[in-house]
Amino acid sequence: MSNYKIPFNKPFITGNELEYIQDAVDYGKISGNGKYTQKIHRFFERQFGFKKCLLTTSCTDALEMAAILLDVEPGDEIIIPSYTFVSTANAFVLRGAVIRFVDSRKDHPGIDEDKIEELITEKTKAIVVVHYAGVACDMDKVMDIANRHNLFVVEDAAQAINSYYEHADGIRSPLGSIAHLGTFSFHETKNIIAGEGGMLTINDDRFAERAEIIWEKGTNRTAFFRGEVDKYGWVDIGSSFLPSELNAAFLYAQLMNLIRIQQKRMCIWNRYQKGLEGVCKRLGIRQPGIPGYATNNGHMYYLVCRNRRQRDELIAYLKERDVLSVFHYQPLHTSKFFQDRHDGRTLPYTDLYSHNLVRLPFYYELTVEEQDYIIDAINNFRRVEIQPPLPVAVARSVADQAV
Ligand SMILES: *Cc1c(COP(=O)(O)O)cnc(C)c1O
Repeated sequence: MSNYKIPFNKPFITGNELEYIQDAVDYGKISGNGKYTQKIHRFFERQFGFKKCLLTTSCTDALEMAAILLDVEPGDEIIIPSYTFVSTANAFVLRGAVIRFVDSRKDHPGIDEDKIEELITEKTKAIVVVHYAGVACDMDKVMDIANRHNLFVVEDAAQAINSYYEHADGIRSPLGSIAHLGTFSFHETKNIIAGEGGMLTINDDRFAERAEIIWEKGTNRTAFFRGEVDKYGWVDIGSSFLPSELNAAFLYAQLMNLIRIQQKRMCIWNRYQKGLEGVCKRLGIRQPGIPGYATNNGHMYYLVCRNRRQRDELIAYLKERDVLSVFHYQPLHTSKFFQDRHDGRTLPYTDLYSHNLVRLPFYYELTVEEQDYIIDAINNFRRVEIQPPLPVAVARSVADQAV
């Protein structure tokens, strides 16, 4: 728990979670793939048109399932943005893949779609894109590259529930439904939560049957329970990727409030965007933009400061006012684990977002008063502007002393 008057995140409990959990307990089956898991699969398949969904214990697990499903083998190359959470890449490293990291876009922390193709080699197997802040990557562009090179695509839609991509023809596809596979997270920092939880979406029928087997420890138990086979056994590799019904029951209560949660989050996002317009212009701070082909799902509100010093000062300034704002990813290509494995390319925009981006408090229960307090505080943030640069002579003498 945060000790700040305004924390960065606060998991929202809708009020029906315990009732559904009680029902799952009374129902007498609390292991995985029970009544609530199946309700959730049906909800997503109906609401968003995903061909097939499998609830998992986390998005990390869904990504690991994706890596197994794509038969990723040692030496296979996977193209992934560097500005993302560890799991996006780690899932593929676990299978021995070589990761080729891509820079972020100049205008958005998401993957620079124009820098994907130059990394494709004979060994490339898949492209993994991340819909950062729930805002779509240019999926027509990504799928076109993949189709031309015969590659698979995975959408890490961990942050992207209820968000859409608008194709050139104007038709909207929910994120997570466009690539061969998609992954979602219900971690307590996301819009819809289960404590820990996730989901794999399978949009290509070729993967449907095997996905269930990998999900159920490498057995065909799911088909057995449907009465499709008369006994079940070990038929492939897999793991225990399915969550307990207790988690599913909790998540179902959240999903029944999806619209309410999304409406509130959009109000919060729009209030930040409007309330900070003036000060951002004055201080050269960039507000988030939503490309024409993307929608906003109110997952996150971030600002991109002019430089690292301004960002760190803004975080410290808000901290003094009892508001917790936080930076985001450390670049994966220069991480302790990966730096010696990286091919040496510099990824300037990844570094830029790592240094300059700050995320503001964002949760369902953030009140208008609290939000206005944050907005007012930022509107009075001017310190970087007040500090004049050192006069040249002084700067020189400081430099001399340093030698
Ligand atoms: C949250 C997140 C994950 C990890 O999700 P878990 O459910 O915690 O495993 C992966 N990728 C991205 C982009 C995320 O935001």
